[in-house]
Amino acid sequence: MTTSARPFLNRRLTEFGTTIFAEMSALAVRTGSINLGQGFPDTDGPEEVREAAVRALRDGHGNQYPPGPGVPELRTAIAAHQLRRYGLSYDPDTEVLVTAGATEAIAAALLALLEPGDEVVAFEPYYDSYAAGIALAGGTRVPVTLRPHEGGFRLDLDELRAAVTDRTRLLLINTPHNPTGAVLTRAELTAVAELAVERDLLVVTDEVYEHLVFDDAEHVPLATLPGMRERTVTIGSAGKTFSFTGWKVGWVTSTPELVGAVRSVKQFLTYVSSGPFQYAVAEALSLPDSYFESFRADLCAKRDLLATGLAEAGFEVFRPAGTYFITTDVRPLGEKDGFAFCRALPERAGVVAIPNAVFYDNRDEGAPFVRFAFCKREEVLAEAVNRLRRL
Ligand SMILES: *Cc1c(COP(=O)(O)O)cnc(C)c1O
Repeated sequence: MTTSARPFLNRRLTEFGTTIFAEMSALAVRTGSINLGQGFPDTDGPEEVREAAVRALRDGHGNQYPPGPGVPELRTAIAAHQLRRYGLSYDPDTEVLVTAGATEAIAAALLALLEPGDEVVAFEPYYDSYAAGIALAGGTRVPVTLRPHEGGFRLDLDELRAAVTDRTRLLLINTPHNPTGAVLTRAELTAVAELAVERDLLVVTDEVYEHLVFDDAEHVPLATLPGMRERTVTIGSAGKTFSFTGWKVGWVTSTPELVGAVRSVKQFLTYVSSGPFQYAVAEALSLPDSYFESFRADLCAKRDLLATGLAEAGFEVFRPAGTYFITTDVRPLGEKDGFAFCRALPERAGVVAIPNAVFYDNRDEGAPFVRFAFCKREEVLAEAVNRLRRL
């Protein structure tokens, strides 16, 4: 979206200007900086998965419109993955929907489930697309702010309960959480589930980082908790798990009624997408546990490299329990405004980061926080750490 589009843009979206990623990526190019802003890996995922895509394309699998709900091979693989990992049983024909990435799944779910004026309770800082998705659906977002507590960002359950009103239609949950790296504990999610049941709320849960949890953190899918399967729309994606963010293969798992509602919208957004890649992702989901374990170990080592470097450079570091991202506080460096800090950082140190304030309704809450992505090659991270020592 460009600034010049604004005179024509409808009122629901005028508050959303150019995304910060466009500005910061342009800045990175102009200054020759290392771009730790946007969260995409700088190496592709497994060779055999890439080959599977080539094979599908050559064999003519998915080159024409695939079926609306997704190709059967992928829907079966998604259902098998949910069962193998979490003991969640979904019917591939009626309870699984393939989407154009998690982004379309989020938008379609919000457009399907909200009436104008419905309130959506979501964690702040928000993932980039949530606020716009809620606005497109005519909903009203109600933030519950995650705040630093004992080295990480945590949810305040009392604040969550207080945010629910008679107008609340759904909870929009994200765990592992981008940008803070928080992974909600089983106890926290149990409280979320109890609230959803008590207030009869729908839940849309964005779990695209389900495989990216570190140390002793555990990813608990909300749908596994009592009373949740029938009210939860679970969203996953191949982009982050398999390091193919350009393929845009995501999915929804839920009841036939909820999946049907989301599909009703999805058919008029993209109808279908990513034909040959769907076959490749079906193979990727069936990779042995060793793939997921070594991917996690690799990212964990990268997290440690960047976290240590950032701490040595003087940042306060909130060590993430999951995701691709480290959120820092710039105040120990004598700074207080993450925006100004990120705009100056390329000239000062040749590194690009993202000010977390853009993910907040209340920008003051997010002012001192800055996010760095660590899904980059080790030598890139090592060079970034070197440069940050100049601060
Ligand atoms: C990257 C990301 C998405 C988007 O996933 P795609 O499959 O690329 O559309 C959604 N939610 C969160 C939290 C993300 O970080």
